[in-house]
Amino acid sequence: MIDRSNLTILLAPGYQDLPEFLAGEQVEVVASLPCYLAENTDAQRGDGVFAKSIEALRRLNGLGYGRRGSGLCLTLVYNPVGPTLPPDQATLDAAYRLELGARYGIEFNRLLTITNMPISRFLVDLVRGGHYEKYMETLVGAFKPAAVVGVMCRTTLSVGWDGRLFDCDFNQMLELPLAPGLPHHIRDFDPGRLGQRPVVTHQHCFGCTAGRGSGCQGAIVL
Ligand code: SF4
Repeated sequence: MIDRSNLTILLAPGYQDLPEFLAGEQVEVVASLPCYLAENTDAQRGDGVFAKSIEALRRLNGLGYGRRGSGLCLTLVYNPVGPTLPPDQATLDAAYRLELGARYGIEFNRLLTITNMPISRFLVDLVRGGHYEKYMETLVGAFKPAAVVGVMCRTTLSVGWDGRLFDCDFNQMLELPLAPGLPHHIRDFDPGRLGQRPVVTHQHCFGCTAGRGSGCQGAIVL
């Protein structure tokens, strides 16, 4: 079980006991941190976000998250600020480990790089900034067949709050249902048919197959 967190929520009124609760339930924390530099993080997320994120990470470390032997896993997530592919995951992991450790004494278990998908708010930003065509060319031009093997829709399903099934959470955001003829609701779950299903793809899928590939477990081709 994982908790996807933006870190600052862990300091917000009404949520401050969340870290202890998550630790008690042995839940992995997967937290966004756009950069190990304050100026870059604040430029993307807003003034003061970096300082709050560091405070939240210190609280998590204090509970054992990210500490060797604790069994409490702390995963950081990086996604590019602009219309570019993420850098190499292992190289960035090493840089985060060095900088966060030296500057703030922060430890974590692993860092995942995730490609920005050309949907929702990021798509709006691309179109507004005039970067849409170029970004799609980047994704298509960087298509990596080896990444197709590991795209998350091949092994997982996304379940909506109302029980509807989707190939992934991106398709869920886009309201793209499973292919016709398949069970479309969790009450009709059929592992045999759903495990063999054709996936509903669209142009945003190039976000999963560009460069080293991308999914909820970070880069696909390491
Ligand atoms: S965006 Fe496309 S390739 Fe990526 S997980 Fe969803 S369906 Fe699969």
